[in-house]
Amino acid sequence: MISQDDIDAFKRFNDTDYLMNEYQSMAASTAIYKQEHAVIYPALGLAAEAGEVANKVKKIMRDGTFDRKAIADEIGDCLWYIAALCRDLNVDLSMIANENLEKLYSRKQRGKLSGSGDNR
Ligand SMILES: [Mg+2]
Repeated sequence: MISQDDIDAFKRFNDTDYLMNEYQSMAASTAIYKQEHAVIYPALGLAAEAGEVANKVKKIMRDGTFDRKAIADEIGDCLWYIAALCRDLNVDLSMIANENLEKLYSRKQRGKLSGSGDNR
């Protein structure tokens, strides 16, 4: 479980923000979809790639094999679409990461990690 110390360390490590935003910028430079398809294209691509992750994981049950590299590659594809979606929404990947950690830590502090609902 993450702690406040972990979050504080993450924030202090400014290079993390730089690297995440640099990745976002570099990933966006490889995007070739039309501007008129902004947001929709990467959102659909993210859903498709998440399905590819699930399909690779599913094969653990079917074949009894675990292809860590193949799953990791699909996670990388998810990351690309997340970066593209962030670019289209004009938000920094690092900001989303930081805000998400703060949300999860707040839930942990209030004993709300389990359960459901966006506004716990
Ligand atoms: Mg893929």
